Amino acid sequence: MKIVCIGRNYTEHARELNNPVPDEPVVFMKPDSALLLKNKPFFLPDFSREIHHEVEVVVRINRVGKHIQERFAHRYYNEVSLGIDFTARDLQNRCKKEGKPWEIAKGFDGSAVLGEFISLESMNSPKAIPFHLDVNGNTVQRGNTADMLFSIDRIIAYVSRFVTFKIGDLIYTGTPAGVGPVAVNDRLEGYLEDRKMFNFLVK
Ligand code: ZN
Repeated sequence: MKIVCIGRNYTEHARELNNPVPDEPVVFMKPDSALLLKNKPFFLPDFSREIHHEVEVVVRINRVGKHIQERFAHRYYNEVSLGIDFTARDLQNRCKKEGKPWEIAKGFDGSAVLGEFISLESMNSPKAIPFHLDVNGNTVQRGNTADMLFSIDRIIAYVSRFVTFKIGDLIYTGTPAGVGPVAVNDRLEGYLEDRKMFNFLVK
């Protein structure tokens, strides 16, 4: 199982980090050891002083596919969830400056928080899903999948030109504006529409 992640998929977030708005999806991956499930606590790692939350809608692939055309991409998933792409922003900035890959800043253990999956059919508006992240009861990030620069179908078409999708692969579809650092004892709660998808502590 692989975890495919999309960067800079919401205009306002690209701007807040002073990144250009991309004309093709920005793709990176995390290893399966990054997954943090079942509301387990997230332990701040010792190699960073600036771990940022990035709340993201997550899609699970349910068919094998390569060179998937955008118009058929909807056949390759039927469930969504909400997760966090934890990012060691200080390390990432150093990697960027030195022209190095981001893996250590993005793929560390516990960096891919994931809630339970729910069927797209059960959503009120499957093509425009609102989501938000609360930290200690205050909403810090709010997004809607209708505002993605690259839709889920377009992401699947693009990524499958390079990499075969397998059953169970996950796609983290990018974060809206409002990313920021987390600290010990912060409580993070994520909502897809009105459903609470995760609720865990930073330790
Ligand atoms: Zn992200």
